[in-house]
Amino acid sequence: MERTFVMVKPDGVKAGLVGECIRRYEARGLALVDLRLDRLTAEIAQVHYGEHAGKPFFPGLVEHVTSGPVVLMVLEGEGAVAAARKTNGATNPLDAEPGSIRGDFALEITANVVHGSDSVTTAEREIGIFFPNLK
Ligand code: UDP
Ligand code: MG
Repeated sequence: MERTFVMVKPDGVKAGLVGECIRRYEARGLALVDLRLDRLTAEIAQVHYGEHAGKPFFPGLVEHVTSGPVVLMVLEGEGAVAAARKTNGATNPLDAEPGSIRGDFALEITANVVHGSDSVTTAEREIGIFFPNLK
């Protein structure tokens, strides 16, 4: 069964959207495999978002995701990677469809409520970073 990694970013936690996000994933049929509230260090954030190192938005992205608590989770189900990303909506909330998390709850691209892995390979890498002991 496919797995993906999802993070509710600090803006989502501050806005009280953790339950709403989890509800949407679960309602869609994705099962929680692991779940944790945490604070990201800059080092971990830089590794997690390593593909974006050097881009103009990178420092602001790292600053945002380290600015407060985040909720980290592993979800499992058929097509979990694509399903979670569809539920999250387009990266820029202004392009995200109403009915998606970003389309319903965000306007800013950096503070866009959630992260979801973009492929099965990425999901394996990200799950390995945040849940190294998960079987
Ligand atoms: N991001 C940003 N400015 C940009 C592009 C991306 O602040 O111009 C942030 C945004 O929060 C996004 C994250 O960087 O969620 C990672 O970018 P990616 O392209 O991987 O988008 P995602 O996979 O999260 O949809
Ligand atoms: Mg991405």
